[in-house]
Amino acid sequence: MAAELIDGNAVAAEMLNELKPKIAELTAAGKQPHLAAIRANNDAGSGWYAKAQAGHCEEHGVRYTLKEPGADASEAEIIKVINELNNDPSVSAILLHLPLPSGCDYLKLVNAIAPEKDAEGVHPQNLGALLATGNSDPAPCTAIGAVELVKRIRPDLNGAKALVLGRSAIVGKPAALLLLNLNASVMIGHSRSDVAALCREADVIIAATGAAAVIWSRYKRALDNYKAGKGEKPAPCDLTPLVKADMVKPGAIIVDVGVNHIPKALDENGEPVLNDKGKVAMQYAGDVDFEAAKEIAGHITSPKGGSGPVTNAFLLRNTVNAAARM
Ligand code: NAP
Repeated sequence: MAAELIDGNAVAAEMLNELKPKIAELTAAGKQPHLAAIRANNDAGSGWYAKAQAGHCEEHGVRYTLKEPGADASEAEIIKVINELNNDPSVSAILLHLPLPSGCDYLKLVNAIAPEKDAEGVHPQNLGALLATGNSDPAPCTAIGAVELVKRIRPDLNGAKALVLGRSAIVGKPAALLLLNLNASVMIGHSRSDVAALCREADVIIAATGAAAVIWSRYKRALDNYKAGKGEKPAPCDLTPLVKADMVKPGAIIVDVGVNHIPKALDENGEPVLNDKGKVAMQYAGDVDFEAAKEIAGHITSPKGGSGPVTNAFLLRNTVNAAARM
């Protein structure tokens, strides 16, 4: 293996250790950091995430509250919960779980969160501060987490060509701005880009697309329609990672943020392979072909303990900083 692993667990542990005395001090002063999450869905992934968040907060002395207005809650009902949390002096920071019930506008709901209680750094005012100043507190957790991992390997990005794959407002765009602020020359790739050509140029890649999951969900829909007698049988889809080893510049730094919940394999008829319980055998995969890319890259995040733990550490840091500001 050519590449060194970027250990997100170690970076997160260091960050959480630095937060410890701050949390103790705030708690002693009667201002215990308190993260409140709102979950208006029955999604299993979001349920798992909420449980993990609760455990993470508890482990680090941060209070955690989960509000569950229900998977069929209206926009007005969710805004009512947000307003209660905005006005609750014990709550330092607020987080909104996805997916939202149908008919709810994400931007409208995020806008209802008081910007100073924005746990994830995704309120338009905070994103605007990032654009205007190159810095924001709170900053979007996943974006700043990915860039923090790059910084640990190469703090000075003068002269480096950095590529961010993905242009969402909460991950891709802020990651690109943060890299620009570190003096990288930044390229942004998306679904209409020649990803291979951009990758071959890049000294740094932050991959944040979930491309394989998008392909799988489109394919599954088409397959289900076909089985229901609607439409043509779709051609088998390609669920291999977006970033392949032959796209990687030797020595590149790769941070893989992508999370793709996809089948392990499709059979010769394009049907997902089943496990021994007769269910589709699923896996979590990144955006990068880790096994092959690690032979070419200089540094690469490991599939276990990559950017996820650092995202979580930034979420706690945003919560603690919010408590300190109150
Ligand atoms: P998102 O809002 O769905 O945005 C995905 C972006 O990827 C879009 O800009 C899209 O391009 C681009 N994209 C999709 N397919 C592509 C393809 N084939 N080639 C190139 N670009 C493609 O997702 P997000 O919220 O930014 O999250 C991105 C990924 O990070 C997801 O996998 C998500 O699960 C993961 N994530 C990880 C963490 C963590 O802590 N590790 C946290 C949050 C999210 P267009 O704009 O052209 O459609």
